[in-house]
Amino acid sequence: KEKLIYAIQQQKSAHLARNDWERQDFSWSKELENVQKSVFKIPALREHQLPTINATLSGVDCILIMPTGGGKSLCFQLPALVSKGITLVVSPLVSLMEDQMMGLKARGINARMLCASSTKEEVNGVHGDMISASSGLKLLYVTPEKLAKSKRFMTKLQKMHQMGRFARLAIDEVRPKPSVQAECMSQLQHLLEREFKGQSGIIYTMTIKDAVELVKELRSKNLRVAPYHAQLEADVRSKVHRKWVENEYQAVVATIAFGMGIDKPDVRFVIHHCISKSMENFYQESGRAGRDAKPAKCIVFWRFADLARQSTMVFTEQTGLENLYGLISYCLDSHRCRRNMIAEHFDERWETADCQGMCDHCKAPREVKNLDIAKYGQKLVDLFLGKGPAKMRVQEATVTGVTRDRAENIIAFLLIDGFLKEDFHFTPYSPKAGAGIPPSPLIVGGIRKLSSFSEESAESDKITLATKQNHSVTSNEANKGTKRKGGSKPTTNNSDQYTHSSN
Ligand code: ADP
Ligand code: MG
Ligand code: ZN
Repeated sequence: KEKLIYAIQQQKSAHLARNDWERQDFSWSKELENVQKSVFKIPALREHQLPTINATLSGVDCILIMPTGGGKSLCFQLPALVSKGITLVVSPLVSLMEDQMMGLKARGINARMLCASSTKEEVNGVHGDMISASSGLKLLYVTPEKLAKSKRFMTKLQKMHQMGRFARLAIDEVRPKPSVQAECMSQLQHLLEREFKGQSGIIYTMTIKDAVELVKELRSKNLRVAPYHAQLEADVRSKVHRKWVENEYQAVVATIAFGMGIDKPDVRFVIHHCISKSMENFYQESGRAGRDAKPAKCIVFWRFADLARQSTMVFTEQTGLENLYGLISYCLDSHRCRRNMIAEHFDERWETADCQGMCDHCKAPREVKNLDIAKYGQKLVDLFLGKGPAKMRVQEATVTGVTRDRAENIIAFLLIDGFLKEDFHFTPYSPKAGAGIPPSPLIVGGIRKLSSFSEESAESDKITLATKQNHSVTSNEANKGTKRKGGSKPTTNNSDQYTHSSN
């Protein structure tokens, strides 16, 4: 629920009532509107934004509490551009800072950030900008640690204040957002407690470690689940199996690598907490549900990071990547009938109309928008600008403002269509693929120049791209594009979960 609190100190404007903050005749109102429209390209402010902005521009302290996506950032970004000097933003999560930096840079706004991984040069550069009247720096993002621990930074800040350059302090997000992991966990908990309450199922994970950890977490929420994998002693395994068959356990958490040889008729749900290795595997795994011919549900949690993890597991197999990409393409698709896609893969005849709303896409058809992702191919570097170590950055590139979700989907499309190529390196410390644990570094690199999203290739172009913290990059001409099965036009899909029912 939206809530807005104006904590008003002893300022001369403290007597203003709430409505007064909506006024548009402040000395900055004209310029504000100008910047809002020309720099941020925002036609109209949302509720609570104008009063907040007016309050902060009046020098009044305020706290704004709105839901995620409500537009809180704009409430200090816009004032930052209208004010003289620098707005200091404290933000707890580096990934959130990076997202905002990208958006700001795409709008040509002079913004910089300092975090633990900033290089000496960057730190020096920022410190210089803080106290240089000619730097033009408008927004400076720092982590709370920087503010708390760096004496040198505090000294610069003091100097900046003495020079009259400290416009305001904004604290963005006072608590970090739940991680993807935590969000995923709470969805899983919800499914087991509500939708699949009293029903029996299987949850698949990629590794034994994942299975063990997931079980630990689910058990801490009082859910009755047990791990089921190859490393269990035979007698333990059969005990788990028996308890599951007798519905003492609601679900077993199994690794996809482990052939279960089970035939429980009343499995009502199969949840893929990771993606399968191929369409064939997916078909078999999800096919463990509903053997009694009653409706059952299959849910896949799909995230770009899974592609990276899974590909390191399968790339040594002859058609490992090809199979995996086939499945990724299925996951990425945002509108076709799921069952139709599966049937097509197995060369079976299937009319979409036969689905009768049993898959998520037929149940709730989405509006489909075609997106030309070629331009993003060229922008990949920009998207990842500033994400990795300083030596990976391309200074002259400009940044687009796409969201992380969209960027990840775009990269996934570029991968499965062969415009990008994954490259795998082993470090002395990484175990061999197939040993059950993926080797740590995933390397994605090498892209051919994209003029349009077609088969025409231009000369190769060196573009580097980083996906994980521990990565290295190669540049070479990517292999020729393999056509995806189904050949549907690339579209985006903002959700990272989909369901598919079968009966
Ligand atoms: P929050 O920090 O509250 O989670 P953001 O500040 O990141 O939300 O804003 C979410 C999105 O909404 C951003 O893409 C931002 O550009 C956009 N946005 C913010 N204010 C407006 C507005 N008045 N009109 C249109 N879009 C807006
Ligand atoms: Mg925000
Ligand atoms: Zn369907």
